[in-house]
Amino acid sequence: MPRFTALVLLLALLLSLTACGQAPAAPPAAEDPAPPAQEETPEAPEIEPEPEPVPYEILDPTVMPEGGGRDGAAYAPWDGIVEHLFFHPVVAYPELAFDGDAQADGIDDYMVTAGEFTKILQSVYDNGYVLVDIGDVWREDTGEDGQPHMVRNTLYLPEGKKPVVFSYDDTNYYPYMLENGFTYKLIIGDDGKIASWGKDPQGNEVVSRDLDAIPMLDKFVEEHPDFSPFGAKASLSLTGYCGILGYRTQTEKDDQSAEHEENRQREREAVKPIIEELKRTGWTFGSHTWGHINLAKKPLETVKADTEKWLDEVGSLVGQTPILYYPHGARPDGDDVHQTGPIFQYLHDQGFRVFASVGISSYSKIKGDISAVICDRLHPDGTTLRGSEKVLSWYEQFYDAREIIDLESRPKREVRWQ
Ligand SMILES: [Zn+2]
Repeated sequence: MPRFTALVLLLALLLSLTACGQAPAAPPAAEDPAPPAQEETPEAPEIEPEPEPVPYEILDPTVMPEGGGRDGAAYAPWDGIVEHLFFHPVVAYPELAFDGDAQADGIDDYMVTAGEFTKILQSVYDNGYVLVDIGDVWREDTGEDGQPHMVRNTLYLPEGKKPVVFSYDDTNYYPYMLENGFTYKLIIGDDGKIASWGKDPQGNEVVSRDLDAIPMLDKFVEEHPDFSPFGAKASLSLTGYCGILGYRTQTEKDDQSAEHEENRQREREAVKPIIEELKRTGWTFGSHTWGHINLAKKPLETVKADTEKWLDEVGSLVGQTPILYYPHGARPDGDDVHQTGPIFQYLHDQGFRVFASVGISSYSKIKGDISAVICDRLHPDGTTLRGSEKVLSWYEQFYDAREIIDLESRPKREVRWQ
């Protein structure tokens, strides 16, 4: 099927990663990833000690009214397509990202700039979309056969509105990003809100809500509360091998020193209030595997070891999640649409129910032989902003790519539309 084409798998090139710090590097992070960030990150904000987060239930349809009115608005049932857009971290400083180094073209292909992201948000909003959480789209129910199956929820939306899910992949703040014009980590700002911390091209420390897609979406919803009638933001798709959200919470095969472990535990404590604040404000989490592994190529044993590590190092912080975002968009067992192979079965048995890839539409299918949903996501990024008329048509319900793309900031490369 076309959605499984090379176009999708090209996403692999950007973030095919193995280890953080010492070990093999990440394209386009290339040969020389930056050192782990512990030493150069700021002190964590002062925090009260918090209890271990408990796993949270995200398959909960009750956040939506069942038709009728609420708070003066009329709600109507929606059983149509729930659109799904996914983003990578956005480029805060194009002059660093697009400086002609080995990463520049990869970033051009797979990211949007903060300025482009602002325009996309405004256009998606202007086109009548409202944010819903991916965890509200389906639920698990017992079928007539007595077995659990996934079913689509009827969404009740403000009349005239259409639903869209946002997910952000690789919100880990990988070392290569720090030197290429991205923010470094999330923090809680003086106003108590999530902000990004990073450095501008001159090396000055910058705390901002305008340079990172997470606080930017928070801010947009503050200014346009009707964009998120149920409080949903985006689902953050996390790996574990470089820690999460800018905090180096990962184990390192090559550094089992007490010092590393102490540092790691400090980072784990430091990220907890960030996670709690994100959850409180509508953000949810999914797995992107610990090592950003290619599920189409790795044997089951590797997938098992990786999943255990994700649950141990990431799930223990963000809670269990039924959402799995395939790294590289790569589907396990050769095909997850027409068959259920051993890797898919294993991942299901670990609690995953929604398996998201990447494609040319917000395709989704409830599997009949196992309680699971597979779905595709559209990907606003350089490849699609530069795409042919046909590619642009996949996105025209959200925005006109011609009006979004910042050709001034981006590398001088081909644009396929007229
Ligand atoms: Zn990824």
